Amino acid sequence: MKPSEIPQAEARYIVPTYSRPDVVFIHGEGVYLFDSEGKRYLDWVSGIAVTALGHSDPEWVQAVRDQAGKLTHVSNLYHTAPHVELAQRLVESSFADRVYYCNSGAEANEAALKFARKWAGVHFGASKKHIVAFEHCFHGRTYGALSLTYKAKYRMPFAPLLPDISFIPLNDIEAAQHAIGETTCAVFIEPLQGEGGIHAAEGVFLSELRSLCNAHEALLVYDEVQCGLGRTGYLWAHDAHGVNPDIMTLAKPLAGGLPIGATLVTEEIAKTIRVGDHGSTFAAGPLVCRAAQVVFDRISRPEFLQAVRSKGEKVMSQLTKVDSDHILDVRGSGLLIGVEFDQPVKPLIDAARGRGLLVVNAGENVLRICPPLVISDEELEEGMETLGDCIADL
Ligand SMILES: *Cc1c(COP(=O)(O)O)cnc(C)c1O
Repeated sequence: MKPSEIPQAEARYIVPTYSRPDVVFIHGEGVYLFDSEGKRYLDWVSGIAVTALGHSDPEWVQAVRDQAGKLTHVSNLYHTAPHVELAQRLVESSFADRVYYCNSGAEANEAALKFARKWAGVHFGASKKHIVAFEHCFHGRTYGALSLTYKAKYRMPFAPLLPDISFIPLNDIEAAQHAIGETTCAVFIEPLQGEGGIHAAEGVFLSELRSLCNAHEALLVYDEVQCGLGRTGYLWAHDAHGVNPDIMTLAKPLAGGLPIGATLVTEEIAKTIRVGDHGSTFAAGPLVCRAAQVVFDRISRPEFLQAVRSKGEKVMSQLTKVDSDHILDVRGSGLLIGVEFDQPVKPLIDAARGRGLLVVNAGENVLRICPPLVISDEELEEGMETLGDCIADL
């Protein structure tokens, strides 16, 4: 098919769950993407916080090529090495004792839900099933994860969803004290909300949730699908606050662009799971896990994380200096930054793309900045200049 025919053919053949601009990307290199006309774009979207090492990273490509030539899939009926070697890294670098693998963020949250319900059922019986989540949270599109997602527009057309879920305001200690009680099974929270507009949970709030969960024997679940694995300049976003969960879900950047999800749990929770309780045909085959090892080993280095923090601080300080009446707030952490405007950001995103800069929204009025974590200072400067010009034209 000619590139020029793609958008029309897509409109004919693809279920219309996405509205895409008429750009067809052909290849990527580092922080740049190239379209079918040869136009270059600075990629500040990273496939929605996925391609943390940028595009076509040589070490990642080499590992994928090598592994594809050796072994790609045998299903979870058999042992393979990359699967376990990745789990060892995840466990040794976190609060967790064990890892369950799947293929996406939504699936990682489905597993977290099932494990939390199983744990509560085994220890306390069927009445302990209530789940607490937060306003503006996003946990995915499958039925369980969708039931935990705040935006009514995403949920309502698909009712009935899971019952026994309540949404409370983020960082509202009193609301948390009211909502978390004897029947609470788990509290799901993104330490830094992504899709919902880049809202951070405060450290004191996470500690309060930890105490409430301890007091009422409920599980604290962190969804670090977007904010985890170095995005905030800490290996895990919650490392900035020193408050550990009982379960943590990961996905987006973990395999550098290949599909993977992971649900990390403590031994207490793992002990209640039996053979056959959950599973996946594709999850964590040798190919994705080998790719994920490359990603993990690069990102987990202290110098790498320090560089993300300092790049994030630079962007944040430049953004706060942009002189525009339309900017209401600049917030976030590391290289996950939100700029809230007094109007929808879609025209700004379109204008930036026209000038060769890709950015994405996080809700109607919030521009989300999430470049590859390997971006250089010069490449950040280049993007800031383009973005500044687009904002000035508002
Ligand atoms: C993207 C996202 C999900 C869903 O991940 P998918 O891989 O799209 O299923 C879940 N939680 C958070 C915080 C996310 O950002």
